Amino acid sequence: MEPGRIRAPRSRNSIQTFAGLCLATAMLLAAPLVLADRTQVKPGWNIFTTDQDVEIGQKLAAQTESKMPMLGDKRVEDYLNALGRRIARHAPGVKFPYEFHVVNSQQVNSFALPGGEVFIYRGVIEEAGDEAQLAGVVAHEISHVALRHGTNQATKSEMSTGILGILGSMVGGGSVGMVVSQAGGDLSTSSFLLKYSRATETQADVLGTQILYDAGYDPRAMGQFFENIEQGKHGRFAEMFSNHPIPERRIERIDQEIDNMGGPPKDFKTDSAEFRDIRRYVVSLPPPPPEKSRRFNTANIQQAPPASVVTPRSDVPANMHVYTGATFTAYFPTDWHATGQGDSVSILAPRGMVIDAQGNPTAAYGVIANVFQPAGMSLAGGMDGATTAGEAPAVTLEEATNQLMASLRESSPNLKAVTLREEIELDGQPALSVKLTNDSQLGGPETDLLVTVLRPQGLLYIICAAPQSEYADYSDTFEGIISSIHLTKQKTK
Ligand SMILES: [Zn+2]
Repeated sequence: MEPGRIRAPRSRNSIQTFAGLCLATAMLLAAPLVLADRTQVKPGWNIFTTDQDVEIGQKLAAQTESKMPMLGDKRVEDYLNALGRRIARHAPGVKFPYEFHVVNSQQVNSFALPGGEVFIYRGVIEEAGDEAQLAGVVAHEISHVALRHGTNQATKSEMSTGILGILGSMVGGGSVGMVVSQAGGDLSTSSFLLKYSRATETQADVLGTQILYDAGYDPRAMGQFFENIEQGKHGRFAEMFSNHPIPERRIERIDQEIDNMGGPPKDFKTDSAEFRDIRRYVVSLPPPPPEKSRRFNTANIQQAPPASVVTPRSDVPANMHVYTGATFTAYFPTDWHATGQGDSVSILAPRGMVIDAQGNPTAAYGVIANVFQPAGMSLAGGMDGATTAGEAPAVTLEEATNQLMASLRESSPNLKAVTLREEIELDGQPALSVKLTNDSQLGGPETDLLVTVLRPQGLLYIICAAPQSEYADYSDTFEGIISSIHLTKQKTK
């Protein structure tokens, strides 16, 4: 891909430049205006209202609490909520009703749901060197909430799936009304708890540092904590970075922000007797129940649909992430980006989103998958191979694939097969594979590899797409993703 031709949409990545300007201004003025030179960080594009942030967050928090081991200790929760709300008072923008939850896991991890629902793992309290470090993690999460990163990402995700060319009409349309109605109905945590990008991490670091400063803590404490876990000083499994990727030059950026504010505040707070008591108390509590799979991050755990069994994958190769959806799991390269909701997912290549001729962001390089409901298919369970003697589906794989193709052609009349259908196996199940051509979102032809397999939910189809001229550059990765697919087994009743 020529970087000059295709501009990937970037989210407010002018922070560095802006900060550089601030620093230059600070040096010029050399005036002791403490608040004047901090970097302004503002929430991005969002189709949700702030009330919806709260509504979505509260529903997801209830779901999360029922699925994750919670500490359920009032003393620890009271302490964390008092600390968290004291800090949250210094967050800019909408005053969200903050609620802090303690996960009974010794992993060093934390995450925030929209609207003020913050989950801090027991491991963070146990590993924080002082109260300021815990306050740093809390301030970082509060920043994700205040900057509305969850619903901002869901906005972008919905838009990216919605405009996926040939699938636009099937993956959800991308209409604002639809997203909003989904917010009131069937919620999927994964959409709101995507792995943050490095750009959003930097935003949370910068704003978190400001909040920490305003709350009277040593603003360097957040960076210290992250640095310690990054360097493995805690010797514990730090899952933190699977939710919060490490931005480049993190510590320098935090230090720069502290310089922007004129150095650490006078008489900053680092520790408290109360924190030391709580940490001692938490350490003394019985160890949490054993964890099923340490490789799985919180997003994966919460994505697991209640009606099915997702087999944990403990064999994740280096440089690969796992996508765990309702119908399958798959590996994809760490620099690719998976977003999904329910049965639909898009796994996009780096810069896989491009700007089309109309100036709209659109997906041109990547893998999308969804479930198609063929007419005449029995939706009775028990279709997992020959293991259960359920009713046979009334529609064959071949017929279901024909129906899918016909449906795809309604929105993409130029879609056509360029190879014969090949019978393959996908995770041990009979599947069909065929190469197609279509009009690319970039103009010119696009090559699509279509793979279909019958599942209890319908016809699972996976489409790998790239402009024809560049398809060869992506085909190995596409094949790798397809061959890593592990179909979700349905629970037999
Ligand atoms: Zn973060």
